[in-house]
Amino acid sequence: MKKILVFTLIIVTFTVSFLKPKVFSGLDEERKKLEQFKQQLDQVKSTIKSIESSTVEIQSLIGNLGYEINNVSKNIDETETKITALKNEIAFKEKDISTKEQEISQEEQEIESTVNLSYKLSKISPMEVFFEGNDPNTVSMKLSYILYVSSYTKNLMNTAINDKNLLAVQKQNLEKNKKELESYLTNQKSEQEVLLEEMSIKNSLLKSLKEKKTYLLYQKSEIEKEIAEENKKIAQLIEEAKKSNSILKTGLIWPVKGPITDVFGWRINPIWGGKEFHEGIDIGIATGTPVHAVADGEVTYADWMTGYGYMVMLYNGSDVTTLYAHLKSFTVKKGNLVKQGQTIAYSDNTGWSTGPHLHFGVYIGDKAVNPLNYLP
Ligand SMILES: [Zn+2]
Repeated sequence: MKKILVFTLIIVTFTVSFLKPKVFSGLDEERKKLEQFKQQLDQVKSTIKSIESSTVEIQSLIGNLGYEINNVSKNIDETETKITALKNEIAFKEKDISTKEQEISQEEQEIESTVNLSYKLSKISPMEVFFEGNDPNTVSMKLSYILYVSSYTKNLMNTAINDKNLLAVQKQNLEKNKKELESYLTNQKSEQEVLLEEMSIKNSLLKSLKEKKTYLLYQKSEIEKEIAEENKKIAQLIEEAKKSNSILKTGLIWPVKGPITDVFGWRINPIWGGKEFHEGIDIGIATGTPVHAVADGEVTYADWMTGYGYMVMLYNGSDVTTLYAHLKSFTVKKGNLVKQGQTIAYSDNTGWSTGPHLHFGVYIGDKAVNPLNYLP
């Protein structure tokens, strides 16, 4: 029981302080400003948060890019080393080929001279052999030796030619490999360029995010200063309102005429029995009695409220709010401006109530004050 009561009191108190209208006093202006600053602060904070998460995301992308660039660079180095090795191999092959070519040309010369010699020998006539004192057997032996040497040289030359051809094929293969590696290297280099470009874009993005965050943090601290300033102003204005309360000073009128059945202050709750603070007075009246606005004001609440039944709240300026509860119905709605004495509702017994009456409360800020101090 007590818990429900406390809960209700909390709700009522909360509602009274929460449902501050937007008119009349400088206090409301300041509260409005404060609300705007708080909204700005929330926006700045959420922007900072999203910048922070973007930063983390980009940093991880930069990390990945760095890893990729590293791999490509390693590939490029390896490929360049391989190409250098191939170039050396090709140079060696060229040297071998030219050695073979020299061999071949020497052997060609040798064969040519042997062929010439054998031709000369074959042209010697038997008479010449006789007169020159040449032994025909020797001539024939010389000839056959020459022929033997010539064919041996020919074999050597053919082998050299074969070797040279083989070397040429090997060189061609090496050149093909080199060409392939070179085109791979070109691809790798252009890939590296793309990655580096991406990295630089990401880095400049990161930089601009950092700058934006710095600016937002500055903005945040400025807004926080404004909020502190507003809170100070509001506290001052509340103090001033408590001292002046022009509405209360110029005088309220009674909302209804009738006997006071319960006064402001600590009491035993008539339904639940627990001790509670009665934040107003109860005026005993018949159901359906017109309820009047005690002062000019704006309707800030006209609806059901647990415990209070149908309830109307008016903001009467200078931080003063009046509250009318346990109603049957109301003739106004939230946002209406009402004049002092205007009928705003009809009384009843709705909510937690033991009999037909009007509960009437006066608040300065969110603090309940005794209505009897202000009623004529
Ligand atoms: Zn009451």
